[in-house]
Amino acid sequence: MAPILVAENLTKRYGGIYALRKCSFEVNHGEIIAVIGPNGSGKSTLFNCITGLTRPDEGEILFNGQSLINMPPHRIAELGVGRTFQNINLFSELTVLQNVQIGIASFRKVKFWKALLTGGRGISRRAESDARSTLQHFELESLADIPARELSFGQQRLVELARALSQKPKLLLLDEPASGLNQSERERLLELLVDISRQGIAVIWIEHDLGSVMKVAHKVVVLEFGEQICYGAPEEVQKDPKFIKAYVGT
Ligand code: ADP
Ligand code: MG
Repeated sequence: MAPILVAENLTKRYGGIYALRKCSFEVNHGEIIAVIGPNGSGKSTLFNCITGLTRPDEGEILFNGQSLINMPPHRIAELGVGRTFQNINLFSELTVLQNVQIGIASFRKVKFWKALLTGGRGISRRAESDARSTLQHFELESLADIPARELSFGQQRLVELARALSQKPKLLLLDEPASGLNQSERERLLELLVDISRQGIAVIWIEHDLGSVMKVAHKVVVLEFGEQICYGAPEEVQKDPKFIKAYVGT
């Protein structure tokens, strides 16, 4: 099967600085690609290029063979590219269920806000039952009616993941989903990632913990000052002198 996403020579400059330079990789259906690199190495810029929030200066991005360059973010989302952000991005006053419903509603183009403002009338029952079953899958159903602001940080991260998945993406971009999680939450997240990929959803995952990356990722992209210094299977990347120099320091 052809790759779901192909990035070719992606380059983005801010002023004279290369935030991303000649980044090229492929993602297959159901594959987990980890993107690693220190702060400021271009990881979030890569996500912004793929999701249409930033236009790359050079390069091509093909999603199922179709170019995403110049396509607006909502079109890219409709094609099946979902994402979470580095910072928590929930509606803090809305309940967990409503936050997930917004994901489903925006996917189905239901006028969720209008429905909410009119006291919930018109919110599709199917959107609600889909949201509840998504929460169940994440073992979050007991939190459904609690405002998002009352959740722990780790729970909020899980709700964001649930919301992104409720849009039924074919490719999911996760920007540091494990940051701020404790050990058991992190393990749960890794299980969920594996589970997501087994459903055939491709995942691009920004992560700092090398142990997790080497255990779970099928391929690894290593960025440094915007340059892609290594790319390949975890076993190959770990043997690459450039990786060793950057991460082991010898
Ligand atoms: P990472 O996610 O790996 O920490 P980023 O992609 O956020 O890195 O940033 C890469 C580089 O691009 C950094 O030097 C950052 O300061 C710069 N940068 C990112 N976004 C912008 C922007 N909107 N305007 C100017 N510089 C930016
Ligand atoms: Mg970032």
